[in-house]
Amino acid sequence: MSNKELNHNFQLDPLLWDLNLRIPGPTPCPPQVLKAMSHPMVNHRSANYFIPLARSISQDLQIFFKTKNEVMVPTSSGTGGMEAAVVNLLSPGDKVLGVSMGYFGDRLARIAKAFGADVRLMQVEWGKAADPDSIKKELKKYSSIKAVLITHNETSTGVTNDLKAVAKVAKGFDKLLIVDAVSSIPGIDMEMDKWGIDSVCTASQKGWMTPPGLAFVALSKTGWKAYKTSKMSKYYFNLGRFIDYENPGNIPQTPAVSLYFALNVALKVLKKEGHDNLIARHKKLAKKVRDGAKNMGLELVADEAHASDTVTAIYIPEKIGAGHVIRELEKRKVVVAGGMGALAGKIIRIGHMGYVNDKEIDETLKTLEESIKNFS
Ligand SMILES: *Cc1c(COP(=O)(O)O)cnc(C)c1O
Repeated sequence: MSNKELNHNFQLDPLLWDLNLRIPGPTPCPPQVLKAMSHPMVNHRSANYFIPLARSISQDLQIFFKTKNEVMVPTSSGTGGMEAAVVNLLSPGDKVLGVSMGYFGDRLARIAKAFGADVRLMQVEWGKAADPDSIKKELKKYSSIKAVLITHNETSTGVTNDLKAVAKVAKGFDKLLIVDAVSSIPGIDMEMDKWGIDSVCTASQKGWMTPPGLAFVALSKTGWKAYKTSKMSKYYFNLGRFIDYENPGNIPQTPAVSLYFALNVALKVLKKEGHDNLIARHKKLAKKVRDGAKNMGLELVADEAHASDTVTAIYIPEKIGAGHVIRELEKRKVVVAGGMGALAGKIIRIGHMGYVNDKEIDETLKTLEESIKNFS
């Protein structure tokens, strides 16, 4: 069906129902989650219905953030969550250390810069994880640094930082720790309270089995203390507005009601599987993808000691071409992502987070092998 016909009929192409969508977000959603989206609208101020739902969502999210802090759910993509973290904790002129090992680490540093922070960028070679000792050295050398900004799981390279070790360093120097966990939790373990992370953000379309459109953000006690003195401009993302002591669950502006319905169901699915099982499933599937790629003679972008459990980046030899592989896979209904920034045209990225199991991964690997076979 052409796009024109699609628009005319207001109907989704039936072929799109059985795609093996293996990009690192948006990710597939369970049928009951999609169905929840078609619920009729309700009053988002209803004490009988919507406010308890929002309350329950926030409490369910605390399980996966491993926190007792309030988890706020602004209507925005993950980047909005990153912006919220920056503008609620910092003031213009604050010196911060932006630790970047890829495209999204750069973005977090850029957001801080855009709002007037004095960013010292620590650039880690793409494919490698940040070295906690190097961060320690930087913090020792530049004592005026107030906060460390870091990506937990770098989606552009498929690398996961040892966040526990990084947090230990940052806390040892009494720095604020602002973390982009957009593509890590809930599939990769992160213990907000235990590790002492001051700000965590993630987004509905990554590991949460929910369509795009919601960011989830939590601040620690120290984070809320920093909020009180923060002077960066903010309005929509002023997180203080999300805390309504009189009426918890009351959201300051109209929330994306349908997405809340979806998220509520998705969280029940995630809770039913159990967080530990969820983490173990991601670990197992990630290993299967890496082993599969290596068996085909392909090279991984990530240093394997720090390879991500939610996304795998794979070099495609020049003579084959990443673009060719992406097109061949798509013809067979397997949709993978290309490279970002410096890796554009050189790699493919396979998402394996959220609602995914062996069947989809086996199919992806088989199709990948077929698409490169003629070249070997
Ligand atoms: C996807 C992603 C983002 C950006 O999220 P959007 O929802 O596209 O704004 C930020 N950081 C990481 C690590 C991501 O994977």
